[in-house]
Amino acid sequence: SAWRSDTLLQVAKVGWEDIGGYDQVKRALKEAIEWPHKYADAFRRFGISPIKGILLYGPPGCSKTLMAKALANETSCHFLSVKGPELFQKWVGESEKAVRNLFRKAKSVAPCILFFDELDALAARRQDESSSHAEQRVLAQLLTEMDGISSSSCWSKEESHSSSNAKKRQEESWIFVLGATNRPDLLDPALIRPGRFDRLVYVGLPDSKARERILRIHCRRMPLNESLMDWNSLVQATRGMTGAELASLCREATLNAMKEQVATTKHSNIDQSQQVEYRHFQLALEYVK
Ligand code: ATP
Repeated sequence: SAWRSDTLLQVAKVGWEDIGGYDQVKRALKEAIEWPHKYADAFRRFGISPIKGILLYGPPGCSKTLMAKALANETSCHFLSVKGPELFQKWVGESEKAVRNLFRKAKSVAPCILFFDELDALAARRQDESSSHAEQRVLAQLLTEMDGISSSSCWSKEESHSSSNAKKRQEESWIFVLGATNRPDLLDPALIRPGRFDRLVYVGLPDSKARERILRIHCRRMPLNESLMDWNSLVQATRGMTGAELASLCREATLNAMKEQVATTKHSNIDQSQQVEYRHFQLALEYVK
């Protein structure tokens, strides 16, 4: 049900179950999106406005984009997504207009989640000498737009005795901004002031429990020989790996099993009975990383 335009990332069918571990990150996202709708009355009663934006940050390959995709699929909101660098490449000289249009579009389809991947490319520090005029204008536009959201969708006083119409209007104008970056140090500090990205959520390397979940997710469709798997050892051996590296480890292990078959068979059919075992992972461990 996610709405997409030609400016958007292809949103793959990723759900919460496809992301191993990171329960706290998932919870933070679900709450930020679901609560303003589910508990709108409580927000009004307590006089607080919902969170405007969350910034996911952390090393590459650790589930940030995946989280955004799951969010797109698992909520009934519309979802618009753009990659920082793309905005400059596609709209040369018109990037700030593109930012404005993006927010306008989001408002017109609200409730809407607006996702900025590789946000650092859009919003590097202003004082940085290397940042061009174009970059500075884009950042300024982004800040203006984010400030614009706060006024249009916070639970303001006038609406405390709201008719259902006012309530409806409010929900309609609700926009949530999600950002992702590997380089939070590059971001302009103005961006992470309250009322813009209210929450910074660190998405780091998976711990052992998360690694096992991620490995099992990527093994779901593999012909695994469970009795010849040593999950404990595999989880230990993959310490320090990212989700992306774990995914490619699973692929390499499967390729290793296939290679064995190819070496011993004359026809192009790979035997259905071929299974993947722990030793195929061990072999793969030597060259993934
Ligand atoms: P980058 O900053 O480089 O864009 P990222 O943090 O956005 O990295 P993702 O794109 O979310 O990383 O992850 C890359 C790939 O790694 C995913 O497509 C998926 O195959 C795998 N992966 C990462 N984390 C997980 C996870 N928690 N569960 C399952 N697969 C994962």
